[in-house]
Amino acid sequence: MTEAYNTNWMSTVGENINKVEEQISSYIGCKYAVALSAGTAAMHLAIKLAGVEPGAKVFCSDMTFSATVNPVVYEGGVPVFIDSEYETWNMSPAALEKAFELYPDVKVVVVVNLYGTPAKFDEIKAICDRHNAVLIEDAAESLGAVYKGRQTGTFGKYGVLSFNGNKIITGSSGGMLLTDDKAGADRARKWSTQSREAAPWYQHEELGYNYRMSNVIAGVVRGQCNHLKEHITRKKEIYMRYKEGLKDLPIKMNPYNERNMEPNFWLSCMLIDREAMCKQVRNDSDAAYIKEPGKTCPTEILEKLAIHNAEGRPIWKPMHMQPIYRMHPFVTETGDGRRSTNAYTDMEKTVDVGADIFDRGLCLPSDIKMTSEEQNNIIEMIRECF
Ligand SMILES: *Cc1c(COP(=O)(O)O)cnc(C)c1O
Repeated sequence: MTEAYNTNWMSTVGENINKVEEQISSYIGCKYAVALSAGTAAMHLAIKLAGVEPGAKVFCSDMTFSATVNPVVYEGGVPVFIDSEYETWNMSPAALEKAFELYPDVKVVVVVNLYGTPAKFDEIKAICDRHNAVLIEDAAESLGAVYKGRQTGTFGKYGVLSFNGNKIITGSSGGMLLTDDKAGADRARKWSTQSREAAPWYQHEELGYNYRMSNVIAGVVRGQCNHLKEHITRKKEIYMRYKEGLKDLPIKMNPYNERNMEPNFWLSCMLIDREAMCKQVRNDSDAAYIKEPGKTCPTEILEKLAIHNAEGRPIWKPMHMQPIYRMHPFVTETGDGRRSTNAYTDMEKTVDVGADIFDRGLCLPSDIKMTSEEQNNIIEMIRECF
């Protein structure tokens, strides 16, 4: 960063940008990395590279941050939401398969690795290949996570990283597009710098964007890269401590498959067993619950943490439940989620996995500066809620 200031390369050209692209692409194991102003910008360019046209349906992870899907709409595409599965909380391969039965012409699939846990890529890739669909991987939350020995961000034709302030490492802001496709990387780099053509003046043949990472930010990211391993180690300790401290309660931690994946443990989350849930209702802006002995709900736990100035969060509210996306198709493992009317009322046969995890789950305080004493206090507060 200091070097950027001292050499006066303060804008979107400079040594830090080149170096951070090299550093990340060699760490991840992809050929090209394009440094951009945000993960959202990287997703937008990935959607353009995948050729999403106005009116085209795109299969998207349902339980995620809105930045995974908004760029589809920037290009005029129509997100079709694919339900989650319980083993990783990511896109359900069975629901994806169902979606291709309903919409066989879809050509692009956007999959997120939620909270740092890889999706089931063997299954998802096989389905995409069978249907000739381009896979885009949103690895914004999962930098450093590994699936079958391979870094996340490399499973799609295009991968997306974020260096926003809340991610596992940060540049304060920033993002990256990852790919093995040289032509794609070149186009993204050109689009991100206002699509200037090679000419002595400002010559434009294509629509451009101001999406390039600044050399100052790139300096921060370069500095942070040295801490990635240490951050992951610390995040894993936090996850394991919660797991141990909460093990005799009727809850489960956010799951992953120990045999074939190693998450980066970005956020520790918990899911309350159905039998241990007290009554909780949520509308579009508020939540309420009725206290019952031995039972609790995310709302009660989050309120309790907040009283002690500790910040937990609800799980990402699924996109199919968002007012902006409520009318979009939503596909569950059993078919069209919009048409299975009693999908969620019959608890034995819950088919809307995303709504269920949103209802019973929450994100726990996971900051790497948290002391073990602070974490023990949080564990104690959660225990008191039961
Ligand atoms: C943070 C995040 C993004 C967006 O990244 P920005 O750098 O904030 O634009 C996209 N997808 C997911 C899943 C994220 O968590």
